[in-house]
Amino acid sequence: ALDFSPFRFDNTLVRDLPGFYEPWQGARVPNPQLVCLNLQLADELGMDMRYSADDRLAAFFSGMLNADGSEPVALVYAGHQFGGFSPRLGDGRALLLGEVIDTHGRRRDIHLKGSGRTNFSRGGDGKAVLGPVLREYLMGEAMHALGVPTTRAIAAVSTGEHVYRDGIKPGAVLARVAASHIRVGTFEYFAARQDHEALKALVDYSLARHYPLMHEPSTQEQSTQEPSVLEPSTQEPSTPESKEHTATNPALALLEQVADAQAALVARWMGLGFIHGVMNTDNVTISGETIDYGPCAFMEAYDPHTVFSSIDADGRYAYGNQPGICRWNLARFAEALLPLLAKDESEALALAQGVLDRFAEVYTREWLAVFAPKFGIAAPEEDDLDLFMGFLTELGKLGLDFTQAFRALAFSLETEVQDERHILSLWRASGVNSCADTASLLAWLERWRARLGGEPPEQTRARMLGANPIYIPRNHLLQAALDDAEAGDMAAFEALLALVCRPFDEQPGKTGYAMPAPKDSAPFRTFC
Ligand code: AMP
Ligand code: MG
Ligand code: MG
Repeated sequence: ALDFSPFRFDNTLVRDLPGFYEPWQGARVPNPQLVCLNLQLADELGMDMRYSADDRLAAFFSGMLNADGSEPVALVYAGHQFGGFSPRLGDGRALLLGEVIDTHGRRRDIHLKGSGRTNFSRGGDGKAVLGPVLREYLMGEAMHALGVPTTRAIAAVSTGEHVYRDGIKPGAVLARVAASHIRVGTFEYFAARQDHEALKALVDYSLARHYPLMHEPSTQEQSTQEPSVLEPSTQEPSTPESKEHTATNPALALLEQVADAQAALVARWMGLGFIHGVMNTDNVTISGETIDYGPCAFMEAYDPHTVFSSIDADGRYAYGNQPGICRWNLARFAEALLPLLAKDESEALALAQGVLDRFAEVYTREWLAVFAPKFGIAAPEEDDLDLFMGFLTELGKLGLDFTQAFRALAFSLETEVQDERHILSLWRASGVNSCADTASLLAWLERWRARLGGEPPEQTRARMLGANPIYIPRNHLLQAALDDAEAGDMAAFEALLALVCRPFDEQPGKTGYAMPAPKDSAPFRTFC
């Protein structure tokens, strides 16, 4: 025993899945210091708060010091990166420290990024630098506050190292928390090696951990809650046929559950203008959480072609491509599962195809459920797809800021007056110039108001303000905060973090934080 026990670890993956990892120790670093500690999340994870002021905590979250019960391992996985298959990726700069049960009874991984080289590092240095670490910290917290399933940061540690990137940067480690780190790429790794025993163990483990209802269909009563189309859920859909498959076909049950969870997740991203930027299959979780905030960013002016990542020259992971890429990634998942889906190959293919064929319908349902409250609509109908798309088309034509446009739409309900000047004043914040042709936007507004029907406007507006954030992590603000942080000043970062953790609450004097980058700024680029 080390007599250092901030968490109560219970490491099922290490216990149940030998062959899925290599035990490893984080690198020694010269001077580990906590830059951020997420006390609320630490509390949720049942951290013993007596350790929150313990010097050893920074060393622990850097990876160089073990705690009682932690069993650091580097996970193996493969993945399709920008369409090409790499049979062996793995944690090249990351370690799973172990699992804890949180105060809600959920099992969660504690994991480090930037903790040094491993056997999977290939040419990489195994390190991370402060700017990107803080970027992931803030993005994950913002997404969580916006209601999106996501990994979250529990701590950021500066290491006292100088790390070479484009120049010398301060080294850092991110400690993050996830429902698990099992990804499509984990399945692809064992499928490529034709290790069907391992695949089967992974299916069973994944079902038990993430979709227990599917795993052990018992006499347990189903939730009596009304299924709500407004709350796209990653857990709920236990359709009669998927229930039936649980006993007989675990691989199919898992494929269906992951397809549903990923469809719901990407629909959430779309509703926020979030662009992940690197939807490689090693970054697609089985849990349905967003993972790996590298080159991600939020779209400002609405344009489905928007890409920020400097490494995505072809726009493979552009905003509007995300649903299609999600389906493509699920096809890779289905392929990996083929040997388990059925003994007969054509039967297995038919089962996989069936899930993929349903994707468009599932995704569209999730998309409507996400966008309906943004438009103030409680119960979406099929025709709403055309109405909602009509608005996005107008945004595209006028180059309006996606986030601001929905806020403006909500506030347009304040007035009975339908005159053009008034509408334009509402949209000016979103960047409509005075000579833009707004006739079709006005026609659309009329159509929308007709759809809203007789509901009191205050009620509709309240629904919209609850679904349309004021504050998202604006690219130019986040970049400026990260530049400051790398220069040793955390004030801007902390202010921005506080704001995006309450994205729906208007805060006095913070109007500038809600606005897109000044028109004359250079196009924003992300690097990972
Ligand atoms: P990502 O693009 O973050 O999903 O990472 C893809 C792969 O590259 C994973 O196997 C990572 O562990 C590895 N990788 C990324 N950056 C580094 C680094 N600095 N050193 C070693 N491996 C890395
Ligand atoms: Mg990754
Ligand atoms: Mg990355």
